[in-house]
Amino acid sequence: MEGRKSETEGMALYLIKLGEISLKGLNRGFFEKKLKNNIKLKIHPYRSVLTREKGRFYLYVDPSCPDEHVERTLKTTFGVVGFSRALVCNKDWDEMCACAKTLIEKEPFACGEGTFKVEARRGDKSFPMNSYQIEANLGGIVLDRHPSMKVDVHKPQKELMVEVRDKVYMYTSPVDGPGGLPVGTAGKGLLLLSGGIDSPVAGWRMAKRGLKQDCLYFHAYPYTSEQALQKVKDLARLIAPYNMGTNLVVVNFTECELWIKEHSKEEEHTLMMRACMMKVANAIAKKRDCKVLVTGEALGQVASQTLESICFTNSMSELPVLRPLVAMDKGEIIDTARAIGTYETSILPYDDCCVVFSPKHPLVRPDVQAQTVSYREMGIEELLAKAIDSVEEFPMGYNA
Ligand code: ATP
Ligand code: MG
Repeated sequence: MEGRKSETEGMALYLIKLGEISLKGLNRGFFEKKLKNNIKLKIHPYRSVLTREKGRFYLYVDPSCPDEHVERTLKTTFGVVGFSRALVCNKDWDEMCACAKTLIEKEPFACGEGTFKVEARRGDKSFPMNSYQIEANLGGIVLDRHPSMKVDVHKPQKELMVEVRDKVYMYTSPVDGPGGLPVGTAGKGLLLLSGGIDSPVAGWRMAKRGLKQDCLYFHAYPYTSEQALQKVKDLARLIAPYNMGTNLVVVNFTECELWIKEHSKEEEHTLMMRACMMKVANAIAKKRDCKVLVTGEALGQVASQTLESICFTNSMSELPVLRPLVAMDKGEIIDTARAIGTYETSILPYDDCCVVFSPKHPLVRPDVQAQTVSYREMGIEELLAKAIDSVEEFPMGYNA
């Protein structure tokens, strides 16, 4: 860090806590490099310098970059477990007090509640105050500003750390980041993104394990409206920052839907539609070098998600289908949707094609062989090939 001093002079400093990445063995460098790149790309166009020391990153950002931009970046970048704004000042008591006052206006002190402790380390023993005096005096400043807070030196909820070295370094206990692994470290997949609650959460969860995803939406205009497409675009834009950007691919599915409706039994409509979605998704995934499909299915949630239905859907896909929500309750999925900010958009009342074409009494326990025969008998391959060749694409940036 010291060697970079001139390069980082005057820049804002953030300490970043790394989690699972620090546990990696020989390939730790690969994960760290990806995380550094992801952070730098998001901070761009502002200048940033990232260095590593003792299991954490030091992120220096050009002072013209707003704090909110850095915070939003770090809260949406997988691999970041926590971060704190750090301030550096001269070994001057007035400057130290000013730094402390600035830091306790921000997270995690900003709410003014809970317990805290000031912890000082005096590397430079010539500094006229000892650690205890620094802690007591700065603790007083915190209590003046946040009178509801209480000191707890054993198990504080928040900490104000002070290191007196060549200069004084001050930072607070980390604000939570999203954890997980850097996006891109697990390769690329194709997320089947509908306008519902589940699939954006599924995409977010896979991105958290390092999977970068393109999104695929089956649009059946005019049975599904322009607003339904707009909703999916909005959802793709909402998850894009977590996913380091994404491309939304829209398939025109109307002719296929109508063909299914005419050429299969009503009770099989949904299953046939899911079979077609798998075929189209496989073809598009391969073109885009995506190694897996991702869906928002959860076991038992609806007729097309019984174990038998999932077995049938799987049999229609050559690529593995990842279903990160398979064992989650709807309530748990909704909690995540709220936390990542997709819920309000997902519940807007624009039907997706599954709803428009769904039969009154769908088959809930399909048989892979029997329904495969039904699928073949539809003779839909030509229409699917046409759909695959006529997609529209909408790129979403990582700061969308
Ligand atoms: P969601 O809340 O994600 O819409 P859902 O509970 O409505 O899911 P289904 O409609 O059976 O369940 O869809 C299951 C999964 O299939 C979705 O999570 C999504 O991954 C995919 N899917 C369904 N409809 C579409 C569509 N129109 N375009 C793209 N993917 C779709
Ligand atoms: Mg749906």
